[in-house]
Amino acid sequence: MIGDKDYVLNGTILLLIIPVFILFFSTLTVLDYENKANCDSINSNNVLSTFKDVKDNIPVITLDVLNKSAYQVIEENLTIINSREYVKEKVQERINKLNYDCDVNCTIKTITSYEKDPFYIEVNSTITVKKGNIKHAENISQLVSIEGLPDPLPFTKCDSISHNLTRIEYHHGLAAYLGDVNGSFYENATSPFIIKKCPYEPYETHGSTPVIIDCIQNGYYHQSNDGACYLCRLEGKATCPHQGLETFIIPHILNNGSTIVSVDHVIFGDLYEGSPFIVNSTYILFLDQAHRKKYGIK
Ligand SMILES: [Zn+2]
Ligand SMILES: [Zn+2]
Repeated sequence: MIGDKDYVLNGTILLLIIPVFILFFSTLTVLDYENKANCDSINSNNVLSTFKDVKDNIPVITLDVLNKSAYQVIEENLTIINSREYVKEKVQERINKLNYDCDVNCTIKTITSYEKDPFYIEVNSTITVKKGNIKHAENISQLVSIEGLPDPLPFTKCDSISHNLTRIEYHHGLAAYLGDVNGSFYENATSPFIIKKCPYEPYETHGSTPVIIDCIQNGYYHQSNDGACYLCRLEGKATCPHQGLETFIIPHILNNGSTIVSVDHVIFGDLYEGSPFIVNSTYILFLDQAHRKKYGIK
């Protein structure tokens, strides 16, 4: 038989057990919440570091794709039909191969010449990284310097020319390209192989002999409204509507006659004549009035 005393005791135990249960469950909730917060914080760090990694990879991959594309043009004597699309697809393929433990969606939207400075390529992309409840998405724009890349343009125009990783040697190639009348001036001509930005600014300072000699010896490139941008050079274009580049093509023989101006976009594009500017006993340039004015040469 159960007495009244037992009922009282059971009741007391029950009353004691309820708060214990409440405490237990709330502790569980707190633990679960902390666990979730911890997990979110780990995911959040993971998402941000993955985002940064994808972002850092884009310019590195773009530079490598530009370099490989240029060497393909140079070594296989071909031109790229639509270099912006071609480079974009190649960069996208390489980005898609990157492996992360987050969901990564990176779309390369455009690859263009940077309007404000033709020594840069602009890459626009969207990166979305997701893990658990955490998501980070951003549209980004990055600049990739083209300095150090080879110039593919001459190889799209002339046969049988070579390079030694610093200079292009035209042998008979440029003379053949220009034809009998003007060609002889450019027999064994040379021009730079690697894009390097000329440090001599404003450009009028080239009127000083040591400056123009240093510029020629180092094979520098200059900004130009007429000369083609890097992406158009991959397409075999000497001139283009974008802000572009120009460099000097150096004739091999000193000559007092006038011939095609020694600027690459004139030689490979517009073909107009200029008169000789004898720099010293080694170098001569043929220049028109507009280029003389640009470089401060009297
Ligand atoms: Zn220069
Ligand atoms: Zn262009």
